[in-house]
Amino acid sequence: MLSIIQKAFGTMFYNMFQLIIIALFMLVHQLLMAASSLPPMTADPPIAKPGCQDICGNVSIPYPFGIGEDCYHSLPYAVTCNTSLLSPKPFLSKFNYEVVEISLENMYTHTLIVNTPLQRTCSVQDVNITSIDLRGTPYWFFGDSNAFIVGGCGSSTLLLDRSNKALGGCTTACDKGHIITNNCTGRGCCSIDVPSSLDFYRLNVFNFGKGEYNCTNIMLINKTAIVNKVVDPSLSEFAVIPTVLQWASGNIAVPSDDRNRYCYPAEGPLENFNCYCKYGYYGNPYLPYGCQVPRECKGCKRGCSKDGNLYHCIGIDRDPNTQRIIWFIIGSSIIGLMLCTGNMSCIYLCIKRRKHMKLKEKFFHQNGGFLLKQRLTLNQGNNDSTKIFTTQELREATNNYSKNNILGRGGFGTVYKGNLPNNQVVAIKKSVVSDQSQVEQFINEVVILTQINHRNVVKLLGCCLETEVPLLVYEYVSNGTLFDHIHNDGPRWLSWEHCLRISTEAANAIAYLHSAASMPIIHRDIKSSNILLDDNFTAKIADFGVSRLVPIDQDQVTTLVQGTFGYLDPEYFLTSHLSEKSDVYSFGVVLVELLTKRKPISWETGLEDRNLAMQFISSIKSNQLFDILEPQLMKEASQEELITIGNLVDQCLSVKGEDRPSMKDIAKELEGLMKKSKHPGSNQCNNGNNGLLSVHKHSCVQPSQDQNTSRQINFEKELIMEMSSPR
Ligand code: ATP
Ligand code: MG
Repeated sequence: MLSIIQKAFGTMFYNMFQLIIIALFMLVHQLLMAASSLPPMTADPPIAKPGCQDICGNVSIPYPFGIGEDCYHSLPYAVTCNTSLLSPKPFLSKFNYEVVEISLENMYTHTLIVNTPLQRTCSVQDVNITSIDLRGTPYWFFGDSNAFIVGGCGSSTLLLDRSNKALGGCTTACDKGHIITNNCTGRGCCSIDVPSSLDFYRLNVFNFGKGEYNCTNIMLINKTAIVNKVVDPSLSEFAVIPTVLQWASGNIAVPSDDRNRYCYPAEGPLENFNCYCKYGYYGNPYLPYGCQVPRECKGCKRGCSKDGNLYHCIGIDRDPNTQRIIWFIIGSSIIGLMLCTGNMSCIYLCIKRRKHMKLKEKFFHQNGGFLLKQRLTLNQGNNDSTKIFTTQELREATNNYSKNNILGRGGFGTVYKGNLPNNQVVAIKKSVVSDQSQVEQFINEVVILTQINHRNVVKLLGCCLETEVPLLVYEYVSNGTLFDHIHNDGPRWLSWEHCLRISTEAANAIAYLHSAASMPIIHRDIKSSNILLDDNFTAKIADFGVSRLVPIDQDQVTTLVQGTFGYLDPEYFLTSHLSEKSDVYSFGVVLVELLTKRKPISWETGLEDRNLAMQFISSIKSNQLFDILEPQLMKEASQEELITIGNLVDQCLSVKGEDRPSMKDIAKELEGLMKKSKHPGSNQCNNGNNGLLSVHKHSCVQPSQDQNTSRQINFEKELIMEMSSPR
């Protein structure tokens, strides 16, 4: 598939493909960059009432708390944002304590961290310290998160409840002023646990510290905020202490809009309840549709968590930054991979293409392309009409060399019928094997046929040299071979007149090859299957596969013996000396085929009668010509005509080439016979025949049998024994 596309669109397609990939890469890169430059993610579920300030300084103010009227639920939740300070600070209006943090999100309680003043006593006396009274408010001291820390070097502290019942106490002592601050177990510091649901307390402190460390600091402090500094006796009396309060929502009506929240009773001193967003939902359960899935948490597989005001998925896969990095890496890898595979496939295609080109070049060379070019240039002017076809054109023309298109198979390959795009019907000859000796033949055929323009010679239209096996494209001759018409079963149509016309046309074409063409051409494979017939039964000589050009000053060429058994010139076979007279012998055999309607070699008969040419000569010599002729022909032709042609054949089949007539003379003789048969004079035997017939001067009935003839018969008998198999 890839190779078809590559073929169709070639480099252009691939370049476009690469451009698209690069554009894609840039687009993804831009998107990723844009994504990474997004503002930091903010808490998108609402926490304050719509239109209300939800933050003061860096403290979030969730409803029921609120800054300004209509923004809080009721007065205990009213918050004032003091903007006159260096950085704005929220204060819980009811107690005027600075708010450090308001939380709705603890799973089991709501908390509020406020800064409370440090309690200090420095004189040696018994001091009572009372807390703010949280009764009637939604707040109480958070026992688990706070501790009473007493810092000093000599004190005894008692924690009492509303009814002066002791809840706890501790004592501090110091070793000569040495304060140990790393734990609060009595040396410079002691602590008292805070009971739960405490909404009021009183501290009774007896201070007996002296000198430099005479002061005692007492604080109810968030356990997580305990630091050395806090218990330092030199701590400023204006220091503020973070104290954790719990709060409940009291009589706040919970919106019944959605089911993403749940409420249950709070643990405080009053009958309160608290509401929470369900797992995975964030926001404010006291607001309508206040519990939502934050934008950043949508699609989180392992849940969502909140860091300050930022939400992110639990697990590294959805951490926004990591996510962006991962996406970038994945995106880049994919694009890189695509580019890489793109390049790989480009390299692969380039290599494949190069290989294909090289192969084509190799085949072109192997198929004698250069030889052909060279020969064609030498014969310039004759090759104008020779077309070089591409493999694709011929594959399409023959329906991918379909079996249905096979016209026939010969010694050198298969011939296919093909339809060119211009509707011209052609015959395409595809060699079976490609070896150097056949290449030579192939090129010969191309060169010879390009020089020939004769109505009785099959026209070569072009060739294709790009394939492993060379391909030749001929004009299509529609009516089969002469061999088929002579030997195939069925009603016989080849009349005497047809025989004469076809043999005259063939003889003329061969005579033309021998003399009229710019360089004499010996066909070397004249036989009835190489004479094709068109719709008008016009003969066309085909198959110049074994043809050879003969330089004009040379009338004999030494060559490897080629031809078809039964048609082969015995002199050529024995001496390898090739001359035009070899074609004359073969043509003589074709004439015998026409006259007897027998095949040149019959494997069914005994050795004596196997070779038709020998049989024919023998019949003539034994004055039994009419015994071997086809009976129908005897009715159509005159005896004189039959004897004339018989003698002509006899001469063609002479053992010595020099005794054979030339093709020109044969053509003339046949033409004469044709004219005569059209204007018949006598059907009598005429021995006074001149010209060719004068060589033997056979009588009709009793031809003489001389020594020379019997020598020839004996020779041919020997020859046929030597030839073991047909070509
Ligand atoms: P050889 O290889 O010895 O010449 P052959 O003549 O039988 O044997 P091919 O020349 O390859 O073999 O031809 C095979 C068959 O293809 C022929 O017998 C003929 O039927 C058919 N043929 C060849 N050329 C043409 C053509 N130009 N038009 C139509 N049919 C053709
Ligand atoms: Mg042939």
